[in-house]
Order: sequence, then structure tokens, then C-alpha cells
Amino acid sequence: MTPGIRYRRILLKVSGEALMGDQGFGIDVSVADRIAGDIREARQLGVDISVVVGGGNIFRGVAVASKGGDRVTGDHMGMLATIINALALRTSLVKLGVDAVVLSAIAMPEICESFSQLKALAHQASGKVVIFAGGTGNPFFTTDSAGALRAAEMGAAALFKATQVDGIYSEDPKKNPNATRYEKLTHDDVLGRGLAVMDVAAVALTRENKIPIVVFSIHEKGELARILSGTGRATVVSD
Ligand code: UDP
Repeated sequence: MTPGIRYRRILLKVSGEALMGDQGFGIDVSVADRIAGDIREARQLGVDISVVVGGGNIFRGVAVASKGGDRVTGDHMGMLATIINALALRTSLVKLGVDAVVLSAIAMPEICESFSQLKALAHQASGKVVIFAGGTGNPFFTTDSAGALRAAEMGAAALFKATQVDGIYSEDPKKNPNATRYEKLTHDDVLGRGLAVMDVAAVALTRENKIPIVVFSIHEKGELARILSGTGRATVVSD
């Protein structure tokens, strides 16, 4: 590993929204390619990276529930959306020569491997980027919670949460330009102040397992590698 690198192994959470670019729906392949490039660059520092992808660019379970439909079915649809995104990200990584594998929490053997912790660790040990699809495999959860869960299972030293902005703010900085940006917070700060960065279950799980959360902007090309090298901008949540 390159000297001075902050974390040897990380779990990166990429939302579906990040893959959408400016499109409003679906996947912008050029954006997926750019994110794959950032992952490759970070890998070249000698950091193990696995990824949890969201599905909000395609479907969210609440969209069904809010129109009187069955939430569980809606969440199944949302989890399927994450598998589409995972396949897109793997395609982008492979195009760049990065060996990557998709492991799904929902069995879909014709399309990708099913998740098991041992399989994931073995793939990671062989140098692959492991992409986790299907969230936790359960309705009523989010892919943020899946990020926290997989980070713990993979022994990640940090959970990197890619967002639209360069850290955690007191309020949405796009709505209030005077919102305060935090450099450092504790898990209790995030929970106690109700800061909307990840859902409560995800933050609680990282707190329980003493996993720092690093919140950064996915829109800054190369930022992932800069943060790993200690020069990028992020809010770090740790106890
Ligand atoms: N989902 C789920 N269980 C999980 C993870 C996700 O049911 O463990 C469903 C849920 O409907 C969610 C959708 O998949 O709305 C997409 O995930 P998420 O909203 O977390 O995606 P993101 O906001 O990160 O794009």
C-alpha cells in the first residue's frame, strides 16, 4: 500500500442518484465510467475497495407504498434496481481493465453470483472490486444500511458515503447557502442532531462496529483517491 494512506480497506456507498448524472432517471454511462475511473485510481493506491450501489435512480419502494401499493413489493422492485446499477458499474470497471464481480443479496444465478461473506472476502483477496447488489436482501431497509452491514462484514476500516456535496452540513446547503459544514462529527452527533446523511439504522450499525463514515462529493473527479491520501475534502464521523 502507498505510504500515508488513511484506510487499507474501504466500503464505498454509491447512490443510484450518483449514476444518473443530470438525466433525471436511469444510468448515464459516462458518469458510471467516471466513477469507475475514480475507483481504479483509488485501487492503485493499494486500497481494497468494495462497493454497495443504490437504486433510487430507477425505483424506490416508497413510490409504490405512497400510491397505496404494497411496500414489500415496492422494495423488491427497488432491490432489483440496485442489481441493474451494479451490473452497469461492473461493466464500466471491466472496460477500464479493473476486475470486478457482482454479488447479489437476492439469488439471480444466471446474472450474477449470490452474496456470501466468505465469497466476498475471497474475491477481495484475489484483487477484485466486489460490488454488492440487492441491498440487504430485505424490504424496509436501505442501501445505506446495506453499506454499513457490508462494511462490517468485509472488515472495512471506513464506510465512504458518496454524496452530492463535500461533507455533512447543518442543513441542505443547496437550500441554505449559509448552512454550516462540519469537518468532524461523532456518530452520536449525527444521530442526536438528526443530520440527514444516512438513515438511523446505518449510522447505528457503524457506531456499534466502530466504523468511521467518510462523507464526500462524488462529483469531484479524483476526490476518492485524494481523501485516501489525506488531501481531499470530507466530513469524517468517528468516535
Ligand atoms: N431496498 C430494500 N432493501 C434494502 C436496500 C434497498 O428494500 O436493503 C429498496 C428500497 O425500496 C429502496 C430501493 O431499494 O428505496 C433503492 O435503494 P436506496 O433508496 O437505498 O437507493 P439510493 O437512494 O442509494 O439510490
